[in-house]
Amino acid sequence: IPEEFTEAIPIIQAIEQAGYAAYFVGGSVRDAILGNKKIHDVDIATSAYPAEVKAIFRRTIDTGIQHGTVTVMEKDNAYEVTTFRTESTYQDFRRPDHVTFVRSLDEDLKRRDFTINALALRHDGTIIDLFDGLTDLKHGLIRAVGIPEERFHEDALRMMRAVRFQSQLNFELEPLTEAAIAKEHGLLAKIAVERIHEEFVKLLLGQNRAAGLKTFVETDLYQKCPGFRSAGANLLRIADLPDQRLVREKSVWLLIAYELGLDTTATRHLLRQWKSSNELVNNVGNNVTLLAKFLADHITNWDLYAAGLDNLLSVNEVATLLGAGQTSATLMTAYSSLAIHDKHELAVNGANLIQQAGVKPGPLLGDILAKLEQQVVENQLANDKASLLAAAKELLN
Ligand code: ATP
Ligand code: MG
Repeated sequence: IPEEFTEAIPIIQAIEQAGYAAYFVGGSVRDAILGNKKIHDVDIATSAYPAEVKAIFRRTIDTGIQHGTVTVMEKDNAYEVTTFRTESTYQDFRRPDHVTFVRSLDEDLKRRDFTINALALRHDGTIIDLFDGLTDLKHGLIRAVGIPEERFHEDALRMMRAVRFQSQLNFELEPLTEAAIAKEHGLLAKIAVERIHEEFVKLLLGQNRAAGLKTFVETDLYQKCPGFRSAGANLLRIADLPDQRLVREKSVWLLIAYELGLDTTATRHLLRQWKSSNELVNNVGNNVTLLAKFLADHITNWDLYAAGLDNLLSVNEVATLLGAGQTSATLMTAYSSLAIHDKHELAVNGANLIQQAGVKPGPLLGDILAKLEQQVVENQLANDKASLLAAAKELLN
């Protein structure tokens, strides 16, 4: 049993001592058995109801009490403890309208999406495997629990999760599961874009994005995603790129924008349709222009400065995939040799210009500061007070 679990064993034991059952479940069990990933969030499932869980521990947080989830704080760790539940009434191909708490682990495992995600681990190391998930793990297969069509009707997001895991784990889809996705892909239209967004990004950040993307296109899932209706061939081109992994979400979207031939405005529009944060919209929109300059080998100091290091590294990730990147060391050296990295590093400020260069407060002051900033970044002017004041006086004439 990996260390992440051993630390949580006292939690399980406390629940058992109170007379309930408790197991490790979900992605952490899968990843621990695969042994190829850093385990993150160890989830615990229990027959105890939320109020019963809270009665056992001194420090708990009501994380998602209506879904049965209580966070238990132990030492410096936080563990999500969720009551066994079924999700019986799915009215509209989305999340269930309510969950029913149950006392049986079997019922809880049945409502999980894929066999490899439906394993439970007891604190003594025994594995509960009702659906042959261990065999599928060994063979690298993503197989729906139960009848795939039915499971995708209950929650259509599971189809996106399937292709996401295909890429993330470098697994294959079990043929009936894949056929059901192709058949039911239209149900994805019922799912909130934010949830699709999350899975799509994980797919593109995964180790086998080529395989995940191919399924995404071949099953027509892409048809139900914002802005992708006629982009099948473009998305497949991404599958043909070298399989170097992307590490930043904004690189994912930059690559998409590039392959779809979008300019900054169209990119911003696409990202808004995908319900992205303002920060993502702005960064990727700007990075589209920057990528074009990278590819044309036309990068100025001002471009480096305006982008900031993280955007540069993102653009470089994508340029590298497209066969035109630099090593990140080269890029970081170029960036660190900039005279300044922020306008606050300029050797004069507005007050200095007013008091010592005779500039009047107002719009002109801003213009002059911006020009000084530009000239310093472009190494046309030294960043010392005397030079900057002299240059400011010059600009006044
Ligand atoms: P990750 O490593 O990305 O966290 P995960 O398998 O832990 O992968 P989560 O979204 O954290 O995925 O979900 C935890 C578990 O809850 C899953 O392993 C699965 O058993 C179950 N689950 C999550 N989403 C669904 C869903 N839409 N339908 C059925 N079961 C689900
Ligand atoms: Mg998880």
